[in-house]
Amino acid sequence: MKIKRRDFLKGAAGSMALLALDGQDARALTAPTLSPEALGILFDSTLCVGCNACMASCKDANDMPPDFTEGQDIWDKPVDLSPNTLNIIKKFTSGTGETKDAESDGYAFIKMQCLHCVDPSCVTACPVSALLKDKDTGIVTYHKHACIGCRYCQVACPYNVPKFDFNHIYPVIVKCQLCDHLIAEDKTPACCSVCPTGAALFGKVVDLKVETERRQRMVPGTIYKYPVKSLDSGLTLKNAAPEYVPHVYGEKELGGTQVMFMSAVSFDKFALPDFPDKSFASTSNSIQGAIYTGMIFPLAVLAGLMFIVKKNTQQEETKTAEKEKDNKEENHE
Ligand code: SF4
Ligand code: SF4
Ligand code: SF4
Repeated sequence: MKIKRRDFLKGAAGSMALLALDGQDARALTAPTLSPEALGILFDSTLCVGCNACMASCKDANDMPPDFTEGQDIWDKPVDLSPNTLNIIKKFTSGTGETKDAESDGYAFIKMQCLHCVDPSCVTACPVSALLKDKDTGIVTYHKHACIGCRYCQVACPYNVPKFDFNHIYPVIVKCQLCDHLIAEDKTPACCSVCPTGAALFGKVVDLKVETERRQRMVPGTIYKYPVKSLDSGLTLKNAAPEYVPHVYGEKELGGTQVMFMSAVSFDKFALPDFPDKSFASTSNSIQGAIYTGMIFPLAVLAGLMFIVKKNTQQEETKTAEKEKDNKEENHE
């Protein structure tokens, strides 16, 4: 059997070109950058008084039923996000729990909801695009008619946000949509619009980041104006600046989130995970790119081998046909 080197290389090069293209496509899926119009929430734990008005308002605005948590005799007192609760205020306490925003013998509040990640793992994991990130507002929304109920988004979310609601004939995923129905009417998300202290503050992410920088520069104990409801509401309250931890959670974690947090106690007290800056979604894209690139050589070899087998088979078929022809001619003679 003789294989021309030129034929072999042609087959291998074709395979390589196709695979190299796939590799480029995988690498092209780089982490998205935030649109200047992206919307978000700044939660300042030092301003939160734990009144839970944001939780009640969230339920009202999103038509969510009350939660009856087993073992609790208080009506609608959820302990975590659930299919009925898109927004929850949790409390950190230590020791005697007497002093607000103190790590020892103190307490502090944290607001949990969908963080509307800049590069959301739930969107990347969903095989049918039932979760989408708006290219302008950056809001991550769920679309029940596309959902096949695989729950990959639940597994993929690093903040354990999406919940599966079995109380429907076709179960659905439930999570905060940043009150996009209110934003569409030029209104403020329900949790921010009722927050009496400005702890939950709505605005464009770029402007919220400027606000976080302003707060980081504040002199502890000095009185400053704090915007309430949204950055452009025109409403302000005066407060003495606390001593913020020098970290805005969500500014960089996993590529950043559009819901960000400021606090006077470290974020591990709220069990917010210590994540790297790079998102899981972009890490998986890099690995995918590397796998595609790494597979070029072995698959090119495979393509070459297939070419050889095909050529062998063709030659064997030709030889068999020639033999049969010779036998027939001999029999005629
Ligand atoms: S917090 Fe979870 S559900 Fe929300 S956008 Fe990020 S990955 Fe998706
Ligand atoms: S933005 Fe709307 S849905 Fe999300 S936590 Fe606030 S009130 Fe609830
Ligand atoms: S409404 Fe504001 S102050 Fe009250 S619990 Fe919610 S975030 Fe805190």
